[in-house]
Amino acid sequence: MPSTLPTTLADEVGITLGNLADAATGVVTPTLRLGVTGLSRAGKTIFITALIHNLLTGARLPGFAAMSEGRLIGAQLAEHPDNATPRFAYENHLAALLGDPPVWPESTRRISQLRISLRYQSQNWLKSQLGASTLNLDVVDYPGEWLLDLPLLTKSFKTWSEEALSLAQRPGRSDDAKAFLDLVRTVDTTALSDEATAEKLAEAFTHYLRESKTDRQALSTLPPGRFLMPGDLEGSPALRFAPLPTPSGVVKSASLYAMLERRYEAYKSIVVRPFFRDHFARLDRQIVVVDALRALNAGPEAVADLEAALTSVLACFRQGRSNPISRLLNRKIDRILFAATKADHLHHTSHQRLEAILNRLVASAARRAKFSGAQTRSLAIAAIRATREGTIKDNGDTLPTIIGTPEKGQVLGSTTYDGKTEIALFSGDLPENPDSLFKTSESTPQLNFLRFLPPQNLVQTEAGDPVLPNIRLDRAIDFLIGDRLS
Ligand code: GDP
Repeated sequence: MPSTLPTTLADEVGITLGNLADAATGVVTPTLRLGVTGLSRAGKTIFITALIHNLLTGARLPGFAAMSEGRLIGAQLAEHPDNATPRFAYENHLAALLGDPPVWPESTRRISQLRISLRYQSQNWLKSQLGASTLNLDVVDYPGEWLLDLPLLTKSFKTWSEEALSLAQRPGRSDDAKAFLDLVRTVDTTALSDEATAEKLAEAFTHYLRESKTDRQALSTLPPGRFLMPGDLEGSPALRFAPLPTPSGVVKSASLYAMLERRYEAYKSIVVRPFFRDHFARLDRQIVVVDALRALNAGPEAVADLEAALTSVLACFRQGRSNPISRLLNRKIDRILFAATKADHLHHTSHQRLEAILNRLVASAARRAKFSGAQTRSLAIAAIRATREGTIKDNGDTLPTIIGTPEKGQVLGSTTYDGKTEIALFSGDLPENPDSLFKTSESTPQLNFLRFLPPQNLVQTEAGDPVLPNIRLDRAIDFLIGDRLS
């Protein structure tokens, strides 16, 4: 897969104008655009809500130097900078988390953005003589599934179809894909196109993609991304296509095959390319949140699949050979943080191993990014910590546990939880060597991860704001924005 993607000349002009506009406003107040991505339910919404809340309330974040050194003077939400992009629903998400009872907010379904202005005292002597400085932080939330689409820009309908059909036949996927593959076999792709058949194929294909994403399977490499995360395109004809086997002989333009090929091309030009041009190409920093634990729960096929998805996602970062103008404007992602979220599902003694697993998952992608000058880091974090720690005795052994209330309907062995009962859970031991998680073997460890309710009975800051507990959120923030506040 190529590490850079072609853009048309018109795109380049679009990107340049966007960057010039950013640069123009940047003269008044410098702006840092932070992209937050990850596959569905990885933890993007929770990360952003926690990030904003901690900054706004001046929470205690010892690992975030600007805060712990007392240089961060204050933060406030600023006017929405971009009328064409929805605003991140921070207030609603926070209200859900602080409700009685607290609930997890609705997850990311489309792109959204929020601007927060940070006032700080620079360490730089010259700069500090001019008084306090301001940095606008634009946080851009978007589904990682959309990034899986970027490689499609370089692929013809024929190539994509062949790849998608062979993937559907792989073990682990073939059960979910059976109905779709059966349907494809009965369809004459050279026959006159008809909407009803196209509709049926698109539906069966989307159904297969959805099934592969359930907890049981947790498979992730499933472009086209908008089939699962349509955003504002829900119900649009741009999503009414599916992969087809290549017909032998000449393809008539009135055929079903030609119709779906045109739709595939339209999907690329009206969906994929504008996203890349208008949002993705303008990011400065990126956090990629990864729910490694969910894949570990589902087994080696899901882990290998997550690795493939992350490699695809990260290959899209605009590294290396940037176009001359973007180089001039210096718009290139220069820091990428890989964050294994939900570390509160594990006792802290396993966090290092979780980071090792994350490193193994992103190894090839990280090498590529480093090669082109971006700094990368991996951290095991919990943007919001829903558990505390304890120990239990088991057959004379002392086992480290986490204590929390599993969500209603969560199942462990023969127990189904009611959403009210607090439990102490030994999640199992993560292996020392992450490689073992990628292979099916007798030594595959037994791991138990459950979803927990958000934390209750929060302590308050001196100013009376609730404190959302976290694990290493401070270090994540420091890596992502700390240098711009120095
Ligand atoms: P996304 O926006 O689709 O990436 O996902 P969310 O941020 O909405 O997270 C999906 C779910 O994961 C939430 O509803 C929570 O159940 C869980 N989750 C996310 N972050 C955390 C975390 O830091 N700790 C815990 N315990 N659960 C989390």
